[in-house]
Amino acid sequence: MLNCKQFTDLASDHIDHQHTGWKRVEVRLHLMICRHCRRFNRHLDRSRQTGAAIAQQIWRGDAAMADMIFTRISQSAPSENGPQN
Ligand SMILES: [Zn+2]
Repeated sequence: MLNCKQFTDLASDHIDHQHTGWKRVEVRLHLMICRHCRRFNRHLDRSRQTGAAIAQQIWRGDAAMADMIFTRISQSAPSENGPQN
């Protein structure tokens, strides 16, 4: 069974669907039992999606939209600590 430290080391690959087999099962089991890592995983996924949205706006040449997205994210960022355990 993974602990929280091990989960956070694997979280990015989990979001990118890089795990298969037992590693995938271990990650999913940990997420089922640990609300801290579920929250961490959710925030990591949102950060990834936000980064992609900003990159897309910059790619389209809409720097003003990218700045607005970044500002809104900065203002709404939770002040929570990382996962426990
Ligand atoms: Zn955990």
